[in-house]
Amino acid sequence: MLAKRYTGKKLVDNIFATSKKAKQAILKFGKENVINATIGSLYNEDEKLAVYDVVESVYRNLSPEDLYAYASNVIGEDDYLEEVIKVVFYEDYKEVLKGIHIASIATTGGTGALSNTIKNYMDTGDKVLLPNWMWGTYKNIVIENGGTIETYQLFNENGNFNFEDFKNKVLELAKVQNNVVLVINEPSHNPTGFRMTYEEWVDLMDFFKSIRDTNLIVIRDVAYFEYDDRGEEETKKIRKLLVGLPKNVLFMYAFSLSKSLSIYGMRIGAQIAVSSDEGVIQEFKDAIPFSCRTTWSNIPKGGMKLFTTIMKNPELKANFLNEKQGYMNLLNERANIFLTEAKEQNLEILPYKSGFFVTVPVGETVDKVIEDLENKNIFVIKFDTGIRIGLCSVPKRKIKGLAKKIKDSIDKS
Ligand code: PLP
Repeated sequence: MLAKRYTGKKLVDNIFATSKKAKQAILKFGKENVINATIGSLYNEDEKLAVYDVVESVYRNLSPEDLYAYASNVIGEDDYLEEVIKVVFYEDYKEVLKGIHIASIATTGGTGALSNTIKNYMDTGDKVLLPNWMWGTYKNIVIENGGTIETYQLFNENGNFNFEDFKNKVLELAKVQNNVVLVINEPSHNPTGFRMTYEEWVDLMDFFKSIRDTNLIVIRDVAYFEYDDRGEEETKKIRKLLVGLPKNVLFMYAFSLSKSLSIYGMRIGAQIAVSSDEGVIQEFKDAIPFSCRTTWSNIPKGGMKLFTTIMKNPELKANFLNEKQGYMNLLNERANIFLTEAKEQNLEILPYKSGFFVTVPVGETVDKVIEDLENKNIFVIKFDTGIRIGLCSVPKRKIKGLAKKIKDSIDKS
């Protein structure tokens, strides 16, 4: 009975399915005997969802009007739209990014930003360029909107960004498509924790600036950017590379508060469009609200208020940054345990710099390895031929010894 364009689709959500198995094992064997590394949300050392005190207190004190009323408009509250730009591009963005126009629109998390972008900028039947190691939902969004997938190898043999492959894939698509939509998930890439160096960004931006006759829509998925330790100086240097973008290159930042404020279920995010052409930004402002209105209508006002109340108040913002630093330290400690032990065990891992996840490339035996790990009550997520370990949700005491257990399962299979 489905419309033709919707037949043949079935959501296979590996993450939720494996997470369910882990929960069942916890019921059967007890929490301490199970390692649930499937979760993509930040958990504390008691294996409870990390909740920011400042988020809790501000949200609980919002007025009923702010919590229950419709947002003032479809694209989001004005001050929210301005604050998301400032969080990504800093307060001085107008002075620094000369000749660049920026606009934002509130979306249902980063997912809404991604789907709204692909829906509006990918021509039906076109290929969208995605990294070979990727969050699987990108693929589904492309398929949902009548496109197909092309992938670039994220890493070269030295574990750096595979610029050669990326460039070749873009150029190939540019020969046959008017619009080339591509995704760069950086920093704190899901599932590897990869981030590019400043030099890699320079090469990439030079390449984008050299493209003519094809529209490039560069989706930069920054869902995990708050948990990256690249530092303000380098982030600002990378920001500056946006100056001089040609008119045919549109940058679209997919911004999410799910991870930033640890408010996953609240569904707050934004699309931030960056272009040197005012007309391109006007087109964005005209077309995107149409899609918002016809899918989710508008974004929860309370979530937007929560964000602006914290960000606009220096004391609350300082509290947030302070708490966030605590969680970043925790993530670092967990990563250090795993990376050190992996080295001792000669366990290969994909280049990790920051963020919630590390990935072990396994190869063809990945299913067997997962089965063996599950027999040991260790639950991880399969990503292509690798396994993803959610450092974000496993306490340090359970990370200790995990690399050896994984290595043993790989050696056995
Ligand atoms: N991008 C990546 C890489 C993700 O892993 C996720 C969520 O897991 C998202 C975007 C979107 O998250 P949300 O829609 O909750 O903002």
